[in-house]
Formats: sequence, structure tokens, C-alpha cells
Amino acid sequence: MTDATQLMVWIDQDLCTGDGICEEIAPDVFVGREDGLWVVKEEASHFGKTIVFDAKEGDGHGPEGSRGVARVPDSQTDIVIEAAEECPGECIMIEPYDAKSIQDRGA
Ligand code: SF4
Repeated sequence: MTDATQLMVWIDQDLCTGDGICEEIAPDVFVGREDGLWVVKEEASHFGKTIVFDAKEGDGHGPEGSRGVARVPDSQTDIVIEAAEECPGECIMIEPYDAKSIQDRGA
């Protein structure tokens, strides 16, 4: 059983200031990477399997940036929008769910 989703979210790491506000607001969707930038993720508690879009190789990882779109669980929609509004880098991008983008990310 997976959460319904109508939105996708990704981060433009080129603009991320690394303050971590997004993770403070929505820790199920945003996570800090070792290099001090933030990435998006899909949590197993919502989607049955955790995928972190941190550009690492291997199972459980996916591409970063615009190719690394994470599905937003409907239960997280409001706080993901709040995170985007609060993001000082204005680099949290929210888009309507698109099956082809999910397929193309290869994760
Ligand atoms: S709130 Fe925005 S700028 Fe701050 S860490 Fe998250 S994505 Fe980066």
C-alpha cells in the first residue's frame, strides 16, 4: 500500500544554501547530504521503499537535480509547500505528478 500522490518535488542543488530548513519542516521528504546540500527522498513508510535522490550509485538511490523527482505523499503536501515557501534559496521545485518523469529518473 502506497500513499496517493499528486505532486512531485525536486531541489536545484546549484541554488541550495544548505541551511536545512526544508528538513526541519518536512523530514520525510528532505534530507541533508554529506556535501552540505539537501536532496529529496521517498520514504518507505509512504511508498514501501526508501529512495534518496542524492546521485549515489546503487539500489535505494536516484539522480539529483531536475531528474531526481520524488513523489510527494498526499499527507505531506502542505508541509512540502510550506518548505518551498520558506526555502531561502528558492530552489525547491514542486510540479504536478507526471508518470513519465518518474519512469525516466531510473530509480
Ligand atoms: S530550505 Fe532550500 S536552501 Fe535550505 S537546505 Fe533546503 S533546499 Fe537548500
